[in-house]
Amino acid sequence: MIQKKQDSAGARSAPVAVPLVGRDDERMGLGVEALKRAFLDRLVYSQARFPEVATRRDCFQALALAVRDRLLQRWVQTARTYRDKGSRTVCYMSAEFLIGPQLGNNLINLGIFDNARQAMAELGLDLDMLLDQEEEPGLGNGGLGRLAACYLDSLATLEIPAIGYGIRYEFGIFTQAIRDGWQAELTDKWLRSGSPWLIHRPNVAFDIKIGGHTEHQYEASASRRLRVQWVPAKVVRGTAWDMPVLGYGVNTPNRLRLWSAEAPEEFDFAAFNAGNYYQAVDAEVLSETLTKVLYPNDEMEAGQTLRLEQQYFFVACSLRDMIRLQLQREADLSRFHEKFVVQLNDTHPSIAVAELMHLLVDDYEMLWDEAWSITQRTFAYTNHTLLPEALEKWPLRLFQKTLPRHYEIICEINERFLDEVRIRFPGDEAVLRRMSLIDEDGARYIRMAHLAVVGSFAVNGVAALHSELVKSDILKDFYELWPEKFRNKTNGVTPRRFVLLANPTMSQLIDETIGKGWVTDMMRLRELEPYADDPAFREKWRGIKRGNKEHLVREIKRVAHADADPASMFDVQVKRIHEYKRQHLNLLHVISLYKRLKDNPNLVVAPRTVIFGGKAAPGYRMAKLMIRLATAVADIVGRDPAMHGRLQVVFFPNYNVKSGQSIFPAADLSEQISLAGKEASGTGNMKFQMNGALTIGTLDGANVEILEQVGEENFFLFGMNTPEVKELRRCGYRPRDYYEANPHLREVIDLIGSGFFTRGDRDVFRPLVDHLLNHDEYMLLADFQSYIDCQEKVSEAYIDYERWSRMSILNVARSGFFSSDRAIKEYCTDIWRVEPVRIELTDLSEDDLQFKRAAAGAP
Ligand SMILES: *Cc1c(COP(=O)(O)O)cnc(C)c1O
Repeated sequence: MIQKKQDSAGARSAPVAVPLVGRDDERMGLGVEALKRAFLDRLVYSQARFPEVATRRDCFQALALAVRDRLLQRWVQTARTYRDKGSRTVCYMSAEFLIGPQLGNNLINLGIFDNARQAMAELGLDLDMLLDQEEEPGLGNGGLGRLAACYLDSLATLEIPAIGYGIRYEFGIFTQAIRDGWQAELTDKWLRSGSPWLIHRPNVAFDIKIGGHTEHQYEASASRRLRVQWVPAKVVRGTAWDMPVLGYGVNTPNRLRLWSAEAPEEFDFAAFNAGNYYQAVDAEVLSETLTKVLYPNDEMEAGQTLRLEQQYFFVACSLRDMIRLQLQREADLSRFHEKFVVQLNDTHPSIAVAELMHLLVDDYEMLWDEAWSITQRTFAYTNHTLLPEALEKWPLRLFQKTLPRHYEIICEINERFLDEVRIRFPGDEAVLRRMSLIDEDGARYIRMAHLAVVGSFAVNGVAALHSELVKSDILKDFYELWPEKFRNKTNGVTPRRFVLLANPTMSQLIDETIGKGWVTDMMRLRELEPYADDPAFREKWRGIKRGNKEHLVREIKRVAHADADPASMFDVQVKRIHEYKRQHLNLLHVISLYKRLKDNPNLVVAPRTVIFGGKAAPGYRMAKLMIRLATAVADIVGRDPAMHGRLQVVFFPNYNVKSGQSIFPAADLSEQISLAGKEASGTGNMKFQMNGALTIGTLDGANVEILEQVGEENFFLFGMNTPEVKELRRCGYRPRDYYEANPHLREVIDLIGSGFFTRGDRDVFRPLVDHLLNHDEYMLLADFQSYIDCQEKVSEAYIDYERWSRMSILNVARSGFFSSDRAIKEYCTDIWRVEPVRIELTDLSEDDLQFKRAAAGAP
């Protein structure tokens, strides 16, 4: 794979910091000996440690830097190739990149995981222990941020020129601890001892204006053009931090470029820890320190100036960076949209539409119409939510105060846009009000989704059902105006991290069974289908699952201090805690099962360990109460000797990418039980499927397509579908009717309300019970019986372990569609129109060295 030319320059030694391919076979080698030497070099020359005194952390750092050298060697080639070819580049703009720990993934993608393990072993070190040292960069909340990370992996693997643009939060998503059964938020200090993967580029810097006012003046020249000057209240300097993202089995590391604001002040940990999360974040002291903290709410909270400033800041830096690159290649910006395409990951970066207009019109003096044409051909927008309350909108006053020039530009875009709407729908005032970029009903808001749609040439949802609902519900008017803009791109996940790295034993069995190569061609997993009927294969399959469960049992012991039985069914729901995801429906089932087992000790059911994991937004009281209910039920069930070997509940704290990698491979059952029509896609569902878990789920998000792929007989479907939900709502949903009509449901809910799980305290769960009985926005009670019945079928299937294994194998065999490679290929052909660029790894010649000397002398 790696081409090496003969070294022609003979004995001349390489400059210390410049990795040269082939100049010294050992230097950047990938073999065991080379890795040992590189590790020891890095320990001494970067960490200034000798082996006898090196800490685990030093050793991790040394190995990471040795690996990073190998990435950077490829990166230099890649950057040069892209520059020379002037390749069309995808810019993936996202406020979140939940990338997970990097070392293991980089070893996998470089193809040196086993060599590294051996090299470390020969030095007396355990690779797993080193991997465990890496802190998770928590630069995202959940699915949306993880999607961006999976897409970067696939973009690089498919050799597509791409840049990920985001924010280098100093404090990522909080670390979750459980204190007295409640969620506690601790600051995430992922940068405490620096990240070996981030490379600071202090010379890639932009000064970004914020606040202030605008001044309008007509030019003195004959054209009398109107010139607008933005006089800011403050200026924030952004500098770039780059992380290489290597593709699997290729020489392409793409660039994840994260912007950091110069941060003179320290963050107020005390307020942060005291639970005053928002207060801490919103404090005056932070107005300077724009990139300090990731907002942990996955729902829109209007009125957070700092959040708007963050979004604007990273978008403004990114567009300036792209313009800088374009002006290095061409004399002007008239072909900007041919060289760059920008994907907006949700509306968080959608201010880019107004910012590009500002740059083109105000700074580069382009006429409005040309600038607008370029803008509209540059952006594409991915919608991520069907919850109307989660659609981003900014109070007009706040927006105007923060971005006065952009407010004017948005008004101008809106006027021109509404003229178009008037022509299309003459006399329809209601449609104008609905489609306007400015919400004029009551308190006035800027609607970011509308800005994104108007400024983009493509708009996509993230699963088939979701994309249909985007067209029929949340962006209906826009679909009628511009049907050609709308499309579907069902999400995917990277099998490199979530199968190869997370589940090495299953991966090896698949290698042995159908040969290698499936990890970049996941539809080949279909070749496993015949083995579902092979008893010997099924037995091996079960052995692997058992091993993965034993590993998770050790993790549960370590972090949740609980014993779990690996012989029981691992019934898992891990994801952000949210009412629409209905973790409390899962708990209603647990309590139902508990009650039935108490009433009938001879009941024949599969023994279960029900595992919950996930963070609640710190300001989201009901979600925190759902966590409290899970821990309370876990406590009572755990103390009951009658439940031993029959039922157990675990709350796994601090679910993140790292812990997910231990959880997915150990799951038997994947809980995907959102109310139909609420989950845009889900990607956790895909990670579970790829690791051989069966899904119990509603017809929601990508579950619909999972069901389609695996077949009804290999999926546990329950609950209302989207039209049924709509119909029930239309008729007037009365949850109390279900409670009155179903004695078992009544028993379960009454048990929660009785204080049984809280030592007699009836107050704790009252808000939850009241909400279920009186509102039940997500219709748990309507889906309850269907869910309980379905869980019974799950139990029967599990007891028939040969049948279960068969279903599990078929789930993996039919998971290929959910590879993020498939998703990215669709984006490439259907939206981005980009081609792969192959990177050859060659020796750096004499010319290169001269170039390098020239570059070194340049400013
Ligand atoms: C995949 C993933 C998610 C998304 O899970 P859903 O079940 O799709 O909501 C959230 N958090 C982490 C850490 C993940 O890896």
